[in-house]
Amino acid sequence: MIPYGKQFLRQDDIDAVVETLNSDYLTTGPKVKAFEDALAEYCEVKYCLAVANGTAALHLASLVLLNKDDKVLTTPNSFLATSNAILYAGAKPVFIDIAEDGNIDLDLCEKALQEDPSIKAIYPVAFSGHMIDQDKLKHLRETYTVTILEDCAHAIGAKDGDVKAASCTNSDISILSFHPVKHMTTGEGGAITTNSKEIYEKLLTLRGHGMVKTPEMKPWEYEMRELGFNYRITDIQCALGISQLKKLDSFIERRIELVKKYDDTFKETLVKPLYTYNGKSSYHLYVVQVDFSKLSLTKVDLFNRLREKSIGIQLHYIPINKQPYYRSLGYGDEKTPVMDKYYEECFSLPMYPKMSDEEQSYVIESLFEVLNA
Ligand SMILES: *Cc1c(COP(=O)(O)O)cnc(C)c1O
Repeated sequence: MIPYGKQFLRQDDIDAVVETLNSDYLTTGPKVKAFEDALAEYCEVKYCLAVANGTAALHLASLVLLNKDDKVLTTPNSFLATSNAILYAGAKPVFIDIAEDGNIDLDLCEKALQEDPSIKAIYPVAFSGHMIDQDKLKHLRETYTVTILEDCAHAIGAKDGDVKAASCTNSDISILSFHPVKHMTTGEGGAITTNSKEIYEKLLTLRGHGMVKTPEMKPWEYEMRELGFNYRITDIQCALGISQLKKLDSFIERRIELVKKYDDTFKETLVKPLYTYNGKSSYHLYVVQVDFSKLSLTKVDLFNRLREKSIGIQLHYIPINKQPYYRSLGYGDEKTPVMDKYYEECFSLPMYPKMSDEEQSYVIESLFEVLNA
């Protein structure tokens, strides 16, 4: 099976994990801090906290940024976790349509902020690795009193001019995920980045049960000052993360080769890339658009026929606001024409650093064979 994405592990990654398994610390040891420091340096941000997974990162970030009933603008085009985290904090997601690049439409966000000054925050997602427009974020942050969380689960390694993904240059917090389908993996894992010491310290406490220990306290003493969680990541996972991070740039370089090949192949065909190589993405997904109304096959047919050929194309994403749970909360009928069209026409082709030229050629041949049948 050729999936839409998968991890790339080599012997040095395995050796790093084994070394940690043989060490004194399996968790809360030196690898966690070393991984956090390496991530902060890579993302060009002051503070980084590694956690159990990207969803835990979103949860803790939301507890710090939001209060009950706060309204938060977010995108329907993401994995469930982005807006679920808003619900975890007792706040209210407000779904805004996407722009042509698949990211939330920040002009529509501005309109919403003008119409409703009580909106507390925006949760944009750097969808498919494409940077959230930093000039617009900066403008929104300077013009309105709005908190911004960037979901960079797809975007580590992306850059727009001087601004790196998850650097929090124009946001309060960013989150990362290290699930195996993402750019680099720790098995399960995630991280939160911020330039605010205050936010970092709150996150640190919340990651560990809300427990605080200060030098003034008796040797055995700790205080629980708020309700926290165990969202720690292990040293075993962080050892893998440190090893993977060293190779991240080479992973992205390989993705760029695959992107350019797809771009060239689809020129003047019925397969339209969501965007072509532009230097502003880390290319987590290669999304294409096909106008099925002009074809004799449906999107379901396409998925089924490619799966018969062991090619796992995927759809990123089903609009979150139309999920049954969200419908039960009264969502689902927002006007999102761009997202609706996207959902009808788009799908993601396999792309990952371990993909060979032969595998990519097989995907391309099979795609055209099925579309032209
Ligand atoms: C993967 C992902 C998450 C959640 O990360 P996990 O590590 O799987 O919990 C959040 N947001 C987006 C956009 C993602 O793709």
